Parts: sequence; C-alpha cells; structure tokens
Amino acid sequence: MSPQLLDDKVEPIYQEVLRRNPGEVEFHQAVREVLESLGPVLVKHPEYKERKIIERICEPERQIIFRVPWQDDKGQVQINRGFRVEFNSALGPYKGGLRFHPSVYLGIIKFLGFEQIFKNSLTGMPIGGGKGGSDFDPKGRSDDEIMRFCQSFMTELYRHIGEHTDVPAGDIGVGGREIGYMFGQYKRITNRYEAGVLTGKGLHYGGSLVRTEATGYGATFFVHEMLKAKGQSFDGKICTVSGSGNVAIYTIEKIRELGGKCVACSDSNGVIYHEKGLDLDLIKQLKEVERRRIKDYVDYHKDAKYINNGNIWEIPCQVAMPSATQNEINGKDAQTLVKNGCIAVGEGANMPTTPEGVKVFLEAKIAYGPGKAANAGGVATSALEMQQNACRDSWTFDYTEKKLEEIMINIHSLCYEIADEYGCPGNYVVGANIGGFIKVANAMVAHGLI
Ligand code: GLU
Repeated sequence: MSPQLLDDKVEPIYQEVLRRNPGEVEFHQAVREVLESLGPVLVKHPEYKERKIIERICEPERQIIFRVPWQDDKGQVQINRGFRVEFNSALGPYKGGLRFHPSVYLGIIKFLGFEQIFKNSLTGMPIGGGKGGSDFDPKGRSDDEIMRFCQSFMTELYRHIGEHTDVPAGDIGVGGREIGYMFGQYKRITNRYEAGVLTGKGLHYGGSLVRTEATGYGATFFVHEMLKAKGQSFDGKICTVSGSGNVAIYTIEKIRELGGKCVACSDSNGVIYHEKGLDLDLIKQLKEVERRRIKDYVDYHKDAKYINNGNIWEIPCQVAMPSATQNEINGKDAQTLVKNGCIAVGEGANMPTTPEGVKVFLEAKIAYGPGKAANAGGVATSALEMQQNACRDSWTFDYTEKKLEEIMINIHSLCYEIADEYGCPGNYVVGANIGGFIKVANAMVAHGLI
C-alpha cells in the first residue's frame, strides 16, 4: 500500500529533511505523517510559508550527543551514548522524556522529540518539545549499576537543562527510580534544590500525584471521548493492551474502572491471554515490584495462556490500545484488528502504528486516536507537576486527576473540531497534526526569525 502523496508545497520540505538526516527512518516517518496534514494549512495561512515555519520546525534548535562512561558490578568500564534533542521552545521550556533502550540512536530521539512538539502544544500547557536518552540497556542491570549509569548521564546533561530551559522526565526504561538518581546528581552538582528541573519525581521530594498513572489514564479518557462521539462507551467492551510497563498497567486499570474488560497484554517476548479478564494486581506485582517478565503470569493463573513470540493484534477485541513501542502495528495487523471487529484504537505508545496501518484504520473509519493526542496525558501531568513545584504546592489525587481528565477532553474536542473544519470529519490524525501545529506556528511568527 502506498503512503498518501504529499502536497506540492510540502514535498520539497520533506525532500530536504531526507537529505539532511540520512538513515533516520523513524524521524522521516514522524515528519512525513505531520506534513501529510499541513498542505491545506499553508493555503489558509500563507504567512507560515513565507516565514518558512515548517522548514524551521523540522530542524531541531539544538542537538546534544555525549559519552556516558560508567563501571559495571564486575569493575568493567562500559561506554554508552547519551542524547538530548532540544527541538522547539516556542511555547515553553523544552519538555519530554528520556528513553534508555538499546535501540536508541539519534533517529529515534528525533522522531520522539518532533512528535513531542505537537503533543505538548495540544495539551494547552506552556511547554516546548524535546527528548533524550541513551542506548544503555537497563535489562538485567543491578540497582547499583543503574545508579552509576544515571549519575554519569546527569554529569553531562546537567549543564544543558533547568526549570526554565529544558525539563526531562521518563520514557521507556526510565521510571521513578532513575529520575530519583538523576535528580540527586543534578542537585549535588549544581548545589540547587531545583524541583522543576525534572518531572516524574517521587512523591516525597516534589513529585505529583497521578503522574505515574497519567499516560495510561489519559489515553483511556481519550478513547472514552472517541467512543462517546460515536454514541458508545467502554461498557462491556473487550480490550487488548500491548506492553506491560507503566503505560499499559494504568491503561488496564482505567479501562476496568470505565467498565471494559482487558483480556491481553504483552512484553517483547510474548503475549498473555486471559479470557476472563487480566489480574491487574498480579501484573503490578510482577512488573512494578519484582521487575519480572510477563510469562510468569501463567504460574499464578492456570486458565491464562502465554503465547511465546505471539502477536497480540490477532486476539479479537473491540478496543485496542498499543502501549509498547513504535511501529508495533503494521498494515496486516491493522487489517486483522478491523476484520475482527475493532472499533477504536488509542495509542498509549509513541507512533506505534506504521503508515500502512494508519491508512487501514482511516479507510475503515474506525475511531483512531494517534499517540500525539491520545498519550498526551503523561506530559500534561508533568506540566501540572511543574506548576505545583513552581508554587511549592501539592494537589490531591482527585483534583489532579480531574485536571488530567479535563485536558484530555479538551484535546479530543480540539482534534474533533479541527478535523471538521478541514473537511475530514472523524479524522483525529488531521485534527491532532493541525491543532498541534497552529499554536506553535503562531508563537514562532510572533517571536520573529530565530
Ligand atoms: N515520555 C512521555 C511522553 O512520551 C512523557 C514526557 C514528559 O512527561 O515530559 O510524552
């Protein structure tokens, strides 16, 4: 299946991105997906074309690459590569997570940083876009090794970040433990207790309630809104959620609260299928407390099935929530989902559907919520954490969750209305891309040529 053609006005911009960023295929994919929506925007707003706003948005403001040396438990020296891409600060300080995973290279960080610009804009909060990480593989590493790595990583990163400059958080491989070690090192080096420099902090030192749950809860609120717009609800719906990390866990929790039934989740080795509904407490115990693999689930539930190397998208469901990683749903998976009766897809992960898969969902006219809208609840709650830090306050769980829900409802309405305005009703891809772009573009016009 061929991807959508690009408008004449944006094709040369895409060609220049390809030329300037060779081999960075995930970045190309993320840029292309946004540019596919922007042709009609340039017709309505010739000032964006004159001022080369799209060309400027595609070029990061700053890219930092650094060596991260550390010693493992055997005393061996290890070298990793660290990244921070400060993509766009038109709306606020750079904001976005850090990913520690062996697949990380500049192209992954740039795709994530690029998506983050539009996602952060959609939240309506004052945050720009950035992303960072390392090709460090935390799997199988001891707590001490993780600490030494995080300290070495921050020993370089600290000079580039700050509460008004760039505010990192977690992503794949970076959770509360890693944020704690990095915060400690930042505090030690700078001699400043600057709570707002990182988000996703522990609750006892400036973290926000609901931040842990936020990405999964937010994605579920978004899907709930999409279902409502179709006159439906989660009630009684069979759902599958890929992954079993932070996003997946709190997606399963909120789906259950809203009346849906999750029957499957996964990790990079295989899939758990439990027809009577997943045991969430067990998943939390295995993943959050004991840091084990999901295959151990069947030791506790004999009626559940573990499918080694299985494909979760072959399990029939009405709602699918990809919450693992990029490009986990291809064109064929998307066809299988649609054929099996899936009516809604909400992306908890960043760019989990390939362009072929997206095309299948849009042509089938199912409710498809792209990551930059559906998973914006995580970073939105990071912005709420920054607000609390700025006024040295901490809000209750219920108050913070209500704010998150309002933000997700607003993102949904914005995407829905813009899709209508641009003649593509129900197309949340167009709504999210244009809705996210316009605010950034207007701020860039206001700031002049910088
Ligand atoms: N990594 C998350 C994301 O993809 C959260 C980033 C943040 O909280 O800054 O949006």
